Amino acid sequence: MSHQSAPHTLDVLNPATAEVIATVPAATAADVDAAVTRAGTAQRSWAAAAPADRARLLRRFAAVVDDHVEELARLEVREAGHTLGNARWEAGNVRDLLDYSAGGAERLLGRQIPVAGGIDFTILEPLGVIGIIAPWNFPMPIAAWGLAPALAAGNAVLLKPAETTPLTALRLAELALAAGLPEGLFQVLPGEGPVAGNALVEHPGVAKIVFTGSTRTGKQIMTRCAERVKRLTLELGGKSPNVVFADADLEAAAASTPMSFLDNAGQDCCARTRILVERSLYDRFLDLLAPALAAVVVGDPSDEKTQMGPLISAVQRDRVRGFVDGAAEHREAAGAVTLLGSAPEGPGFWYPPTVLAGVSPDAPVAVDEVFGPVAVVLPFDDEADAVRLANATQYGLAGSVWTRDVGRALRVSQGLRAGNLSVNSHSSVRYSTPFGGFKQSGLGRELGPDALTAFTETKNVFISTEA
Ligand code: NAD
Repeated sequence: MSHQSAPHTLDVLNPATAEVIATVPAATAADVDAAVTRAGTAQRSWAAAAPADRARLLRRFAAVVDDHVEELARLEVREAGHTLGNARWEAGNVRDLLDYSAGGAERLLGRQIPVAGGIDFTILEPLGVIGIIAPWNFPMPIAAWGLAPALAAGNAVLLKPAETTPLTALRLAELALAAGLPEGLFQVLPGEGPVAGNALVEHPGVAKIVFTGSTRTGKQIMTRCAERVKRLTLELGGKSPNVVFADADLEAAAASTPMSFLDNAGQDCCARTRILVERSLYDRFLDLLAPALAAVVVGDPSDEKTQMGPLISAVQRDRVRGFVDGAAEHREAAGAVTLLGSAPEGPGFWYPPTVLAGVSPDAPVAVDEVFGPVAVVLPFDDEADAVRLANATQYGLAGSVWTRDVGRALRVSQGLRAGNLSVNSHSSVRYSTPFGGFKQSGLGRELGPDALTAFTETKNVFISTEA
């Protein structure tokens, strides 16, 4: 996934044009080591500061991000190929999360616990230096999901962005300094995963790793953290269902389906890429879906009207194509249909919106994460069959349920083994609600009211009243 022009530098490409837009130095293990030392020094002062002072600086950081939303969004468009609308939302999400987390600095409450012979209470202490290893698909928000609560709870942060998307992260670090955050408290280390990322994982001065990325890399990192009993949060892949029952508002369900898996060109861990439709309305649903898919505007991500941009890289496009080509061996003759949207020609990394119907439910394209604009449609017979089919992957990140029956919505929500569900909606992410995966989609949760706690160690203190 990396584009190295020379040792120790990374070329950053605009995925819509395949042009190099920047070259940045790649951090070595020695750079990581020096950064950990600086971060440790900054963290000790930060943790000792009044919570109100930490809160004030984080709010100031949020305000500076707010002043730069448009600039950050346009940088995200250029380095990640995101549509302008999405990129503005992403920069706004960073601002909102900094604001939300700032309040937490003063509300990080321990507990007083009734015991005999004394007073017992807990203290929530910062962990120290946190290493965030981020992917390329949502570079800004995913960095902020760790950064904001970790800082609010009194930690320092070292962020290693993905090889392909270091620019917004570097700019955020500049904005943090401009807002008055202490030197060294938040540092960005662009670099190769096995070099800079691995150095963070193995460094004894890094107390916790927050990793978002592929399940394969997450497992490797978990093994290395286990050897050190290092704290770890994992946000990994997904293969999320979009379950449409016969009693749903069919028009609304079909109209919303394309963008439920095409947002960010399908490079979204919450993408609803398994469209499960009750058999009695299966044909009708496909009839509605085909024109909705064809109407999606794919093209220049900096154009306000564009709904879907390019994939991140040629490697990713080849991977997506491999899944779709491989599906030919898993087509069931009756009902094998491919619905296609449009995609531009040209030098960027384009792939058309694609829906495969009539694929066997255990085909790789139906159970593995494609991470591109590709979904499958599978029929089901009843509620129990829908839940069984929805759960039949190694993942459990998100899912949608379309029905007008409240009882069914609740039963199916209880039956689905996934961390982020939506009923008559495809919404998955809000800074104020917890986010994370069941099964091999992850470990731990980010965001929401408990986000700061994940960046603390609980200390229990007992004071005898009998001495
Ligand atoms: P990736 O696993 O290849 O890389 C993610 C990050 O890990 C990058 O910064 C990379 O440099 C680093 N890395 C790679 N090898 C490493 C190693 N040996 N040690 C330490 N760090 C290493 O994933 P990607 O291709 O960048 O991202 C796409 C994947 O991320 C998809 O599978 C997607 O589902 C997943 N994802 C999950 C979520 C979530 O919240 N669950 C969010 C976004 C992306």
